[in-house]
Amino acid sequence: MTKDIGALGIRYITDKITAGEPLEIVPGILLLRLSMPFALDHINVYLLKENDGWTLIDCGINTPITQTDWNMALDSCFLRGSRITKIVATHHHPDHVGLAGWIANKFDAPLLMSKGEFEVADRYSNPKRDVVLERIQFWQEHGLPHELRNEVMDNMPRYTKNVVPLPKNIELIDTNAPIEMGGRLWTIITGRGHSPEHLSFFNARDDILISGDQILPKITPNISVWPNGDQNPLNSYLTSIQQFSSLGKDPIILPSHKIPMRGLKVRVSELCAHHKLKLAILLDALHTSKNCYEILPALFNRNLNLAELSFGLGEGVAHLNYLVATGLATTELNQDGCTTYKAK
Ligand SMILES: [Zn+2]
Repeated sequence: MTKDIGALGIRYITDKITAGEPLEIVPGILLLRLSMPFALDHINVYLLKENDGWTLIDCGINTPITQTDWNMALDSCFLRGSRITKIVATHHHPDHVGLAGWIANKFDAPLLMSKGEFEVADRYSNPKRDVVLERIQFWQEHGLPHELRNEVMDNMPRYTKNVVPLPKNIELIDTNAPIEMGGRLWTIITGRGHSPEHLSFFNARDDILISGDQILPKITPNISVWPNGDQNPLNSYLTSIQQFSSLGKDPIILPSHKIPMRGLKVRVSELCAHHKLKLAILLDALHTSKNCYEILPALFNRNLNLAELSFGLGEGVAHLNYLVATGLATTELNQDGCTTYKAK
């Protein structure tokens, strides 16, 4: 007997995506895959056809292989001889805004962002600050062994290296009003938890969702506590993704990573279930008092390498803070300045 997954199941739209080769994924919208030199080895950016050129959503990170893919794409039959008239960023992460300055300069195009994302990007872009250095105290407070801290710091990507200086011409987006792009009107959905004021775009007429990193197929967006940021981002994420549950009939989801798909409601449930499972595993591990570093093998089911540790600690603290906020665990600051957690 075949199982009918019906309209609610997850269905991937295409797997014929080649880096540097724009692909018309729905009429008037190109998906452009750009390579990245990391474990997550690509990002999808989108180009929406305007009368006088293209609106670009997200840009790719500032690395040579990403630029090579861009040069190939700009020479493709879709883009050769045409302009990018405006750039829209879903959020401030380097894979999304890294090359915004480069493209803005090339085409004299403005960069549109939400206020919350611009503020973080602007702070991180300050060449006089090393935001990675500022994280040492946070890592120590959450149990990172002293001898590992320099190595973790050296393995953290630097924003100013991966993001070329942001363009001068930045326009802040009014997130309460719809935005017109590519001849379609898009409702803006503000997401929290992965970044402060992440933007996704939904077109009701054609049932299209440009989801950014808020809804991803196959992988889950990193939900981390950072110093000076949201201290309960997991709650912010789980609350804000509920907005997607009731969107449209069965929208095509155009995500920033992996493959376009349908099955939004199911994916929202899966993302929530993933975090609820992680919370249950953590609670189990907290029958004795532990710091965040000590719970990482339980949370990730393996040992993290140096490049993964800082994101792992951020994600660990996000889950631990959620357990404390919901009254399931308690927290204590020890005499050595280390924060520990214990199930109630
Ligand atoms: Zn992101």
